[in-house]
Amino acid sequence: MQDLAEGIARFQRDVFPAKAELFARLATQHSPHTLFIGCSDARVVPELITGTEPGDLFVIRTAGNLVPAHTPGADGVAASIEYAVSALGVRDIVVCGHSACGAMTALAQGHDLSGAPAVAAWLRHADASRARTAAGDVPALVRQNVLAQLANLATHPSVARALAGRRVTLRGWVYDIGSGHVEELTAAGSPVAA
Ligand SMILES: [Zn+2]
Repeated sequence: MQDLAEGIARFQRDVFPAKAELFARLATQHSPHTLFIGCSDARVVPELITGTEPGDLFVIRTAGNLVPAHTPGADGVAASIEYAVSALGVRDIVVCGHSACGAMTALAQGHDLSGAPAVAAWLRHADASRARTAAGDVPALVRQNVLAQLANLATHPSVARALAGRRVTLRGWVYDIGSGHVEELTAAGSPVAA
C-alpha cells in the first residue's frame, strides 16, 4: 500500500495540475469514444497502449478478455456493454487479446484448474475458440478468442442495434507485451495492419 499512497501523492502533485483543464471538464462530462474490452492482466494497460487520456475509453477488463454471449438476465459485463453503447454512444468497440495470456495458456495447454473452479467455469466462454484451435497453440487461441468474443458482442441487443444502424464498429486486436506491437485482426483472424 505504501507504493499506492506515494502514487496518489505524486498524481496530486504532478499529474493533476498539468491536466487541470481536462479534469475540470471531466468532472461534469462523460463521453468516451471507445469501449475497450481487455484482459485483467496487469501488463495490458489500455490508456498506455492507445495513448489516450482520461475520459476517452470506457473499459471492461475480464480474465481472458472474455465477453459472454447475451443471455436473459443481467450480469456485470452485459450491463457495462449496454451502458457504453446505449447510454454513452461509443463509436468503436475494441476486444484486445494479448501475448502470454494466462487464461489462454491454461486453456491451450490443458492446465488442471480443479483448484480454481470459478476460473474454470468462466473460461468455458472460450470453448468455441478452443474448438477451432490446435491444442498447445497459445498464439492461435489468443487470436481465435478475440474473434469469438467479437461474435459474442454482436449477440448483445444494444450492440446488435448499433451495428444495424451503423453507429458502431467492432475491432479485434492482439497486443504483444514484449514488443509493444498491436495487431489488428480481420474476420479470418489474420493481421491487416502493423
Ligand atoms: Zn490475459
